[in-house]
Amino acid sequence: MAFRIIEHCTACGLCLPECPIDAIQVGNPIYVIDEGNCCDFEDCVAVCPEQAIVRVTIPPGFWACAQPRGPG
Ligand code: SF4
Ligand code: SF4
Repeated sequence: MAFRIIEHCTACGLCLPECPIDAIQVGNPIYVIDEGNCCDFEDCVAVCPEQAIVRVTIPPGFWACAQPRGPG
């Protein structure tokens, strides 16, 4: 699993500092998540005022999350 930023994004920037592994980048026109490295922390999802960050399924082998969320 991973998360993706969709077209509702207004490039407000609120999500950028929330990602603990810097998987979000400023894009043009909308922000972009490096889905292969997104570790599903969901910190970004919680702060997005546009509900523009959605869960997606990415192909096995592409997901390279190095720090999966532990229990709790
Ligand atoms: S879901 Fe978590 S790891 Fe993925 S971009 Fe958002 S804060 Fe970063
Ligand atoms: S918080 Fe939401 S609207 Fe703001 S830049 Fe991130 S994805 Fe886009």
